[in-house]
Amino acid sequence: MTSVTDHSIREVVIIGSGPAGYTAALYTARAQLRPLLFGSSIFVGGSLTTTTEVENFPGFPEGVDGPVLMENMRAQAEKFGAEMIDDDIISVDLTGDVKLLTDTAGTVHRAKTVIIATGSGYRKLGLPKEEELSGRGVSWCATCDGFFFRDRDIVVVGGGDTAMEEATFLTRFARSVTVVHRRSTLRASKAMQNRAFADDKISFAFDSEIAEIKETNGMLASVVLRDVFTGATRDLDATGLFIAIGHNPRTELFTGQLDLDAEGYITVAAPTTRTSLPGVFAAGDVVDHTYRQAITAAGTGAAAALDAERHLASRD
Ligand code: FAD
Repeated sequence: MTSVTDHSIREVVIIGSGPAGYTAALYTARAQLRPLLFGSSIFVGGSLTTTTEVENFPGFPEGVDGPVLMENMRAQAEKFGAEMIDDDIISVDLTGDVKLLTDTAGTVHRAKTVIIATGSGYRKLGLPKEEELSGRGVSWCATCDGFFFRDRDIVVVGGGDTAMEEATFLTRFARSVTVVHRRSTLRASKAMQNRAFADDKISFAFDSEIAEIKETNGMLASVVLRDVFTGATRDLDATGLFIAIGHNPRTELFTGQLDLDAEGYITVAAPTTRTSLPGVFAAGDVVDHTYRQAITAAGTGAAAALDAERHLASRD
């Protein structure tokens, strides 16, 4: 692939087109920094484009369609001059004063500051119908979707802190919650386990995995549980399935250049968005183990823009 260098040096290049990236673009555009945002070749708009109704983003009392929210965020940033390229950055050299970012056409883009907002992906079970039924009974986020599951029978998959937290939270809405875990003991902290064990609405299917997801009229209707030792299967009626088996932060590009934590998230000097390299900032779910919400991603996107702006001002 031929490599062409864009010889202009940008003040800011942003990688990622979710709430964090678009908000960083809006702020840096309004600060006259002419940001250039790479927003992916196949997944423009980030995680919220895979959902329908978003009820917890402030400013929308009637809720808002996920893809519409993301189109609006993009349009707002573009209105102030942010440039968007729907392509992936496939390699980076962030170590120098001038950062180098290569797109899929082999063009090398140069920037004084880089904001990383590449997000993280929910780990999937890898079963047929799992993706198809996303938003139709299958979910990866109780905070986002729990409210839609009032009086339902729900299954939560996973054995860590997140799974216990999701299960406990979901009892506010659900009729029953069954935690399905592949092992005979949970990985969650003792405190989280004790809370879940003490909850009358929560029961456990240990040494079990989901073998199949079944639907009726395009909505989740039940799951098939399989005993991991005997292979025996049984049907469990459930109209909600929450998958809580972890996340994969999208940080492969930065391995070896930026400090990452044990799970691969970018580490920042909180409460700032500064990474281990000067001029490189990170925001949104690629940093965040804890909250993983559109509004928190947008919030740290704004912080990254302000951090980048101050960094540039300090260089002048
Ligand atoms: P993302 O939204 O994940 O965006 C990152 C973007 O960067 C992606 O488009 C990705 O393709 C792109 N990217 C990655 N690498 C590169 C690269 N090398 N080059 C170019 N682009 C790249 N949150 C709520 O607050 N309310 C909800 O109701 C809600 N519902 C949800 C429903 C679903 C089904 C899902 C999956 C998530 C939901 N969330 C919800 C969570 C919310 O979507 C995330 O917390 C939020 O989108 C994180 O924003 P982000 O900008 O960090 O990353």
